[in-house]
Amino acid sequence: MAKPKYTSHVGMVDILPDESPKWRALETIIHEEAAKFNFEEIRTPIMEQTELIVRGIGQLTDIVSKEIFAFEKGDSHYVLRPELTAPVVRAFVEHHLEQRGGSQKLYYIGPMFRAEKPQKGRQRQFHQFGAEVIGSDDPVADVEIIALMIRIYQRVGINNFELKLNSVGDPESRETYKEALRSYLKPNLDKMSELSQKRFEKNPMRILDSKEPEDQQFIESAPVIQDYLNEDSTEHFEKVQQYLDQLGINYTIDPHLVRGMDYYTRTAFELISPDLGSQDALAGGGRYDLLVEEIGGQPTPAVGFAAGMERLLIACEELDISLAEEKTVDVYFVTLGDAARTWALTHLPKAREAGLSATMDYKGRSMKAQMKDADRENALYTVIIGDNELNEGKFTLRNMKESEENSLTFEEILEKLG
Ligand code: AMP
Repeated sequence: MAKPKYTSHVGMVDILPDESPKWRALETIIHEEAAKFNFEEIRTPIMEQTELIVRGIGQLTDIVSKEIFAFEKGDSHYVLRPELTAPVVRAFVEHHLEQRGGSQKLYYIGPMFRAEKPQKGRQRQFHQFGAEVIGSDDPVADVEIIALMIRIYQRVGINNFELKLNSVGDPESRETYKEALRSYLKPNLDKMSELSQKRFEKNPMRILDSKEPEDQQFIESAPVIQDYLNEDSTEHFEKVQQYLDQLGINYTIDPHLVRGMDYYTRTAFELISPDLGSQDALAGGGRYDLLVEEIGGQPTPAVGFAAGMERLLIACEELDISLAEEKTVDVYFVTLGDAARTWALTHLPKAREAGLSATMDYKGRSMKAQMKDADRENALYTVIIGDNELNEGKFTLRNMKESEENSLTFEEILEKLG
């Protein structure tokens, strides 16, 4: 086949008709499980102000320093949203959602954009679902967020994952830890990557997240944050673990887990799948008690997760999980001649009103070609309509699987199939 003149952008993928049923099935599971946890859906614009994303996620993060798609129009600076926590918090502050009372339990599904190097499980337009609890610092909220995240994978049939857990401390603990980390790293800083050197002053904890080979030997024996958590943070972290234990949710503590955004405080977690190859993170999240204030709201504690939908679907493929059944159509009207075509066109709405999916030939093809087409469309039944049938008011209804035929009136057909 000739190369098409236009293609989608690198790393931006079409979800074609054969694929969309499993996406819809996944979305249905997310909506259902979120509803069971009493979360409400929020939908925000695809574009946000650049300033929000830079402040919200952090200037030195990979996302902001390398991966945002940004452009200007007039005086406005736009960015395609790379994640949804900062936009959801923006919406929370902008619309004073705290006035609704209680904690805001919000979830979302939608496309995100990051200018990353595409590979399996990593795209430039990808999809996330996620949830946020804004307005509670209770460890119960952390654990409910983790439980919702895990529940969705379990509903899908993915049970093979590892939950990694850490506490990145509150601001006080972090300051003490950052000092300890700086003193430890300083003697070898000139041997470390440029990026780590850049992070050293402002955010040395992100150095622990470095993938650069030259940094690894120094990271391995770095001090761990658990030794620097103050009483409050320690107690919070212990409660999270205790509740996870009580729910029977397994986890491993990973003291180097810091996650990619600057806004995390206390709980941080990641869900890893052994079925995914190098891009093995299914989902991640944590507590971000400082973000609401950073974005201009009143100090409000919050916790959330974000999960990659493409990666979930890749894991399904690896595990042979099919989320959607094969597409079918209940009834295909096979028409012979003009009068039959008109009759079919005007009776399709009646079949659809009766709750059936119904279609007909759009190309004026022969009966044989129409039967073949009905087969290709996975029609469960065909109704054969010609002049004789129209005169008699009786039609041949064919059960395509059983190859069984009945002569019935249209009303009888609707009754039988409905
Ligand atoms: P993050 O917002 O970076 O914590 O990412 C949360 C989840 O989104 C990750 O665990 C991945 O499953 C998914 N994800 C992040 N970036 C991409 C990407 N470029 N392509 C596909 N999935 C992604």
